[in-house]
Amino acid sequence: MKLDWITPAERLSALPPYVFARLDELKARAREQGLDLIDLGMGNPDGPAPTPVIEAAIAALNNPANHGYPPFEGTASFRKAIANWYRRCYDVELDPDSEALPLLGSKEGLTHLALAYVNPGDLVLVPTPAYPAHFRGPLIAGGKVHSLILKPEKGWLIDLAAIPDEVARQAKILYFNYPSNPTAATAPREFFEEIVAFARKYEILLVHDLCYAELAFDGYQPTSLLEIPGAKDIGVEFHTLSKTYNMAGWRVGFVVGNRHIIQGLRTLKTNLDYGIFAAVQTAAETALQLPDVYVHQVQARYCRRRDFLIEGLGQLGWNIPKTKATMYLWVPCSVGMTSTDFALDVLQKTGVVVTPGNAFGVAGEGYVRISLIVECDRLAEVLRRFKQAGICYSTEALVSSSD
Ligand SMILES: *Cc1c(COP(=O)(O)O)cnc(C)c1O
Repeated sequence: MKLDWITPAERLSALPPYVFARLDELKARAREQGLDLIDLGMGNPDGPAPTPVIEAAIAALNNPANHGYPPFEGTASFRKAIANWYRRCYDVELDPDSEALPLLGSKEGLTHLALAYVNPGDLVLVPTPAYPAHFRGPLIAGGKVHSLILKPEKGWLIDLAAIPDEVARQAKILYFNYPSNPTAATAPREFFEEIVAFARKYEILLVHDLCYAELAFDGYQPTSLLEIPGAKDIGVEFHTLSKTYNMAGWRVGFVVGNRHIIQGLRTLKTNLDYGIFAAVQTAAETALQLPDVYVHQVQARYCRRRDFLIEGLGQLGWNIPKTKATMYLWVPCSVGMTSTDFALDVLQKTGVVVTPGNAFGVAGEGYVRISLIVECDRLAEVLRRFKQAGICYSTEALVSSSD
């Protein structure tokens, strides 16, 4: 029987195609052709979770008490570990019962927050380029997304002064993310002070995604929204264990901040999921308590890769400033080439996967994102293939290869 009498709900048709899924098809085709792919497309860290985390998970797995449904609101000890971590990292006090909520990864929480707070037609401010969940969540909820165009000449910072007064008045939520995926931009503390003042003035809920809290280099320490006085009245902040602790497959993250906002998200989630496997929460708790030396090793690893690739791309004509944080380089395509054409060209000629910038919204056009998720010997191979295939940065308009 054909299913042509049923169509997906309208909320799905509001979504632009998920570029990563399309990239997956192209990768599969390239693999069939026998190409040795080097995948720098996804933000999927390489390597295992830290040994103490794995050991804690195994011990927790051997305890049958963990095998049943976990508590909806997360285990008390994970929530306490979150509050302790915030005190240690940011000198911010959190009530573990009402101001911290474990999530099945931050993507889940970022999207569900929109379902919990956005009515059809509500206005949500989202930068472009941005991490896709920041605009896809509001779109699924039926919200209207007002894009805040980020520009290289502003250091990819949101230009708050450029937001029209009537837009700010109507806006209900503003999503933002520094250190940024995909641009790798960072925001100074003064920016956080300005955005808190802006949100308080216009009564806008601030949703800050701090997934790269620890992936910062050269002594740079990212700012937490909650460090800013008054931020907890109007904001929440999301974290993940995926990146720093190589736990992307474990699906664990958390949100902290305003208790009323967190209560709304908790209420929605009680109707959707049963929380995170308790053994995974034990593992996450262990990760947050690792000694600083672990995080320093992770930072050194990404720093090494960053320096290596920036140097090598420099020899191919790209002038990429040193990034202060994240696991990405945000690289301009040759002048006149679209992101998609450039990424396809690179994939076809070299077997290297990079993400077209338009996956992150219209203002990502003209760029690609390269993830630093392989060791320097593989990055050397990337550079070798680029050189051989004539992939370089050119300020002269090129004719795109797909013509
Ligand atoms: C990777 C990433 C996430 C997703 O993290 P999960 O906890 O694995 O869902 C969220 N936000 C940003 C900006 C990211 O880069």
